[in-house]
Amino acid sequence: MKHFPIFVNLVGQKVVLAGGGETAVAKLRLILKTEAEVHVFGSDAVDQIVAWADAGRIRLYERALQAEDCWGARLVYAAQDDEILDARVARIGRATGAMVNVVDNLKASMFITPAIVDRDPVTVAIGTEGAAPVLARHIKKTFEDALPPSLGLLARLGQTFRGAVEVLPMGRKRRNFWSKFYFERGPLALAEGGEAAVKAELASLLTTNVESKDLAGRVDLVGAGPGDPELLTLKARKLMHEADIVIHDQLVAAPILELARREAIIIEAGKTGFGHSWKQEDINDLMISHAAQGHHVVRLKSGDPVVFGRLDEEMDALDAAGVDWAIVPGISAASAAAAGMRVSLTKRKRNSALQFLTAHDVNGFANQQWWDLAQPGAVAAVYMGKKAAAFLRGRLLMHGAASNMPVTIVENASRLNQRILQATLMDLPEVLETSSVNSPVILLVGLAPRVTAKAMIDLNIAQTEYS
Ligand code: SAH
Repeated sequence: MKHFPIFVNLVGQKVVLAGGGETAVAKLRLILKTEAEVHVFGSDAVDQIVAWADAGRIRLYERALQAEDCWGARLVYAAQDDEILDARVARIGRATGAMVNVVDNLKASMFITPAIVDRDPVTVAIGTEGAAPVLARHIKKTFEDALPPSLGLLARLGQTFRGAVEVLPMGRKRRNFWSKFYFERGPLALAEGGEAAVKAELASLLTTNVESKDLAGRVDLVGAGPGDPELLTLKARKLMHEADIVIHDQLVAAPILELARREAIIIEAGKTGFGHSWKQEDINDLMISHAAQGHHVVRLKSGDPVVFGRLDEEMDALDAAGVDWAIVPGISAASAAAAGMRVSLTKRKRNSALQFLTAHDVNGFANQQWWDLAQPGAVAAVYMGKKAAAFLRGRLLMHGAASNMPVTIVENASRLNQRILQATLMDLPEVLETSSVNSPVILLVGLAPRVTAKAMIDLNIAQTEYS
């Protein structure tokens, strides 16, 4: 990010703009949304600018800008559509210590003006650092459509009530009050009886909330999916918006944590196989103590919490503590890996069973039904299998598996840095080693990535089904 977005208070501040044409008009339309003191310098100003001057909304000087004109200015805009003249204004502006913007000239500007959706006091500012104005326009339209024009009025009325609402304890109760107001009762009241009805609604909603019982805390055990935020369920997304506390595993991808409420407390409780780890009991205690304080806890687990997530230990602890909880399933790494390989995990006549197995359990390398797994056509998704690759190979070969049995390594399934490496049972440990696989990885034993018809022709190979 080269440009940091901020909202500058321009009440009573001097803003200087050089230019009198249509470019100047476009910028002035935005600046005039504020309560700044606007000084415009330009001969031959177009009618709109003259009209603003006549109405007292700007001060118009029909001459070129001089150094002293910028003294005390907070912002200086060069909007003359003339590179040389604009460069002069920019120099003057910089010399007086103002922030300078040269319209449509990113390089010469100290700041840029975003596209704005105005629902004052709610303002959405959209910037693409000049990279994609079309994108900014599209996003602006999306927000324009999503935010009704009445939102500004509701927010202003709500603002006058903020002090009164402090009688509600901070956290879920207060938040519930505001979401009910903004998304349910406020818009209804406004439509039915205008501003007066909204004020009455605020008062009655507050009384109801003050009198309502304190909300009990709860824990949702939520699947975060394999990493791509678009693979979150709608329910998971909604809960992330509501949670007071998010306790997540190390594997949960950063873009997903971004979806938590800004005020939410986010705690990483990593249980890495081989590094510093949180103890399961500590994680249980953490969930229980926050729930006991009336907080809504989202316990975010990678993939699907019901797959190798030590879920029973958490459910048992929550039950023992009398905390209310629910499970929200997610997309497991195996499903995402298969999607990345463009294959199905099951196939008629190939495998009518599918195994999800972990290469590790409490006793180290996990023992499995090796005989079944070694059969032609068998398919297994191996979680936490990196360190156990050589062990896996040994056991499968010993039980009669073909040495050329395909094994696909999918690293970072569904993420931007997803890698799919093709191996056989024989060279699996070597491929893992030489490809420096360091991120979460799942092994799909018995499956090779789908080869497209075109790729087969290009490579001049026939797709031989493993059997
Ligand atoms: N509940 C999770 C599994 C947790 S066990 C799920 O349903 O996916 C942790 C293991 O899952 C990792 O060691 C790795 O084998 C696998 N894993 C999780 N996310 C992954 C991803 N994005 N890509 C590949 N493997 C992943």
